[in-house]
Amino acid sequence: MKSTDESSRIGRPLAENPSQHGATATPQQRCLACDEPMVSEASWVFRCGACNFMISTLSPGAGRGVAGLESLRLRNFETVLDRIAELLPTGASDLQQCGGAHLLEVGCAKGWFLKCASLRGMRAEGLEPDIEDTALVRNLNVRVGSFPEALDPDARYRVIVFNDVFEHLPDPVQAIAEVERRLEPGGLAVLNLPSSDGVICRAARPLNRLGLAGPYERLWQKGMASPHITCFNPGNLRSFVKRHTELQPVYAGALPAVSRRGLWKRISSAYPRATSVALFPLAWCASFGLGLCPSDIQLAIFQKAQSPNGDSEPPSAPSAALGKFRTAFPNDQAEPV
Ligand SMILES: [Zn+2]
Repeated sequence: MKSTDESSRIGRPLAENPSQHGATATPQQRCLACDEPMVSEASWVFRCGACNFMISTLSPGAGRGVAGLESLRLRNFETVLDRIAELLPTGASDLQQCGGAHLLEVGCAKGWFLKCASLRGMRAEGLEPDIEDTALVRNLNVRVGSFPEALDPDARYRVIVFNDVFEHLPDPVQAIAEVERRLEPGGLAVLNLPSSDGVICRAARPLNRLGLAGPYERLWQKGMASPHITCFNPGNLRSFVKRHTELQPVYAGALPAVSRRGLWKRISSAYPRATSVALFPLAWCASFGLGLCPSDIQLAIFQKAQSPNGDSEPPSAPSAALGKFRTAFPNDQAEPV
């Protein structure tokens, strides 16, 4: 694990002469992905001028998810599990053996992903600080609490998954370093999270600058119980992980961000009824074209190097999966490893 000095933490003051970095505003932070200065994107969002990483000043918290997403999430979870099974040396059976290492989902919410994993015979465990309905997770292996505090000190996992959770974390640097520490050698860190390269985010940013703040604030879940704290694209996510850990990228792709099933519920849970009635037909029509545009959800998978001498050893040789890094982004290339 790489050390994470104070310079990588949120809140580091700018250098004495910000202009030497091309800063045009007076941001109070440096980029967590590339350490360049942040510039003001909105009164409550800072953006890296070099790599486009964004961070908000919204208050983190646990809370309810977005309504109307079950159909979309379940479909995406099956894709995530397919990719995990492909990348593990012995496929899904890696997670099916009793007594063997298994999968941890951080922020398992209603347990949908755990159920999908369990149906494949995987030994899956969830961590959730805010269980709304214990009946939903009664037959699942779920711990109440936060990552990593609620875990056993020596617990290690074959796979650690964040589904729509990583962007909510107040200290992503500490989190990714802890993920690396908690993975077995050869284990996978799976990040399913929003992408600022997505067409909806790309459209919302200029609208926000024009004074139409609704879509932009909705993307960040501003005003909701658990707003987004960070926003990555595939490139700066790789830079971020590379800067703070020894984890290696083994997969990068996109997941669908919009499904027509549940669309009304999703819109009406976020906007007043009159706004929802106006938005719904527009969103319905737009959904047919969105599948052809860059998605607002990315899936990135990183692997801890195999180490025969223990998980604190630096990587001495590329792992089996490193040779098959692939990306589902047409113009995106893997960084040299
Ligand atoms: Zn940056």
